[in-house]
Amino acid sequence: MPNLSKHVARNLLFLLHASTTERVKDIIDAAIKLSQQRGSRIFLVGGTVRDLLLKLKPRDFDFIIDNDPKDFIDDLCPKLRANRAYYSQFKTSTITIDGLRFDFARARTEIYDKPGVLPRIHDASVEEDLYRRDFSINSIALELTDPKKPCLLDPTGGLTDIANKVVRILHSRSFLDDPTRILRAIRYEQRLKFTINTNTRDLLLQAVKAQTLSTVSGDRIRNEIDLIMDEPERASIFLRASRLGVLCSLHSSLSCGDWVKSLKKTGEDKLTYISTIAYKLSSNETDSFISMINAPKDWAKVLKDMSYLSQKETTLNALSLKPIEIYLILKNRSIHSLNAFKHSTNLKTTRKNICLYLDKYRHIHPSINGDRLKNLGVPEGPDIQIVLKEILAGRLNGTISTLPEEIQLAQAYLKSQKRT
Ligand code: ATP
Ligand code: MG
Repeated sequence: MPNLSKHVARNLLFLLHASTTERVKDIIDAAIKLSQQRGSRIFLVGGTVRDLLLKLKPRDFDFIIDNDPKDFIDDLCPKLRANRAYYSQFKTSTITIDGLRFDFARARTEIYDKPGVLPRIHDASVEEDLYRRDFSINSIALELTDPKKPCLLDPTGGLTDIANKVVRILHSRSFLDDPTRILRAIRYEQRLKFTINTNTRDLLLQAVKAQTLSTVSGDRIRNEIDLIMDEPERASIFLRASRLGVLCSLHSSLSCGDWVKSLKKTGEDKLTYISTIAYKLSSNETDSFISMINAPKDWAKVLKDMSYLSQKETTLNALSLKPIEIYLILKNRSIHSLNAFKHSTNLKTTRKNICLYLDKYRHIHPSINGDRLKNLGVPEGPDIQIVLKEILAGRLNGTISTLPEEIQLAQAYLKSQKRT
């Protein structure tokens, strides 16, 4: 249907102009001009075209060119007064301008020697390049070489899949070649409110069952988890991944229950979400997961704290716990993990105690300090800690609330020590 595709191409160009700033238009125009000068073809592709078709604002700009992108970008950068260019092993050059990413990739094919391992690449035509991609909805290209005659390339049926709101892989080995596509499929499905097509879902489940994710490096898995964490729909993505058995195939005890939806309502942040998946991990499993994904320090802290809290879940459920006992169990634990734990536990008293700590206890501090206690005659060493703890316990109970009362309590302690 050449007329329809011409019409869609023109419409896409219109949407591109309507949804971008003058600065972005200038960048795209400069890239088109440069391709014309170099006798190269230039296409918009991937998420940019998909989002334009869905009337969404593109998050970044993916281009394919049939020329070396390093030379291309070396020529382009000075014209844009942009100097931060990055060149990847996959013949992709990236520049970031005003927080927006512009990727220029050499049209290529990919050969996967082993499942999960990064592919070998070969220069190829743009049409071939579209077949090496993840899903049909990401495999539509808009040729801009002559912007007066924009052209649409849709060899895999992406337009129809976008119209039917379907996520579909392009060949039956896709998830085996690159199992990160399992996580990507769920991410797009939930983000765009699409459905993973039946055949794609069957192949996804087969790939999960065959433990293909274990063939992927921890760094790539962490990167995919990180991308999920950045999504507004992260709660639904986690839940879907958990239900399809994907989380537990990443690590046997990773999980996520319905309660993750309550995090969405309270608008919790990224680290809180990261904590949630460690709810059922033992301390050893947490350590092995942290080292598997090479977790950064802040992730490691919240994952460990979540696992610690899970181990204290029953202890914290005792009605008889005193405020100071709750305080001592929970102090120094990350607020993100405490928040995540509050939503994940089913134990009422545990939840109540966590809330008491978060809302009240953690904000209570004695007015007196160690030096002042020394001046009052409390000997250096463990006595100071004992008195400080008693004062804090009194403050948390509400039996004392002023500095003079704290001093009185210290003096009573000194008296009792003299008697013994
Ligand atoms: P987003 O809106 O999340 O940025 P995107 O579609 O632009 O979505 P990117 O991760 O920026 O996704 O990748 C750009 C394009 O590169 C994708 O649209 C897809 O065509 C291709 N791509 C990315 N990752 C893969 C992969 N693992 N396998 C095959 N193709 C991929
Ligand atoms: Mg993108």
